[in-house]
Amino acid sequence: MNNLDVKILSCTLCELCETRTNAVPGSGNIVNPEVVFVGEGPGRNEDLQGKPFVGRGGKLLDELLQGAGLKREHVYITNIVKCRPPRNRKPKPDEVSICTSHYLEKQLEILKPKLICTLGATALQYFTGEKEMGSNHGKLFRTKSQIQLLSTYHPAAVFRNRKLRKSLDEDLKKIAGLIQ
Ligand code: URA
Repeated sequence: MNNLDVKILSCTLCELCETRTNAVPGSGNIVNPEVVFVGEGPGRNEDLQGKPFVGRGGKLLDELLQGAGLKREHVYITNIVKCRPPRNRKPKPDEVSICTSHYLEKQLEILKPKLICTLGATALQYFTGEKEMGSNHGKLFRTKSQIQLLSTYHPAAVFRNRKLRKSLDEDLKKIAGLIQ
């Protein structure tokens, strides 16, 4: 565990610390991963286990990664906010701003990925300002620090609309070509 993870685990900078069980820094390859996936925030299972994407959405993410020729151990997976918002509400703007400026941006500086893949609208909006998921999935952007960014749906969106599975599959299959 690095210093940043230690800080995340004991963070009290926003109100999410009051209701969390465990903060969830992220997991995966910490030695120059080529791809960093960024979701929204921990859900119930993630909060209980202290690991990102371990619930139903996590199982689907594993299948999607496999379809794209990627392994969870090779990539790094994290979230915009590191603590579960109560009842899985969307993180508030101040929570996003505090958590990303103290943690996500520092994680990205350390990890130096070739590509960031955003999972869902919260991560897309944080990096690009775009709010609309449907018209922006599968598109390439650049972050302020010029890292290339691929936008796709949040895996949990597939549980509400099965048709999105195909788009997620197709979007993630672009990754191999982007990190060559
Ligand atoms: N949803 C997210 O956005 N992140 C997780 O870690 C789990 C579910």
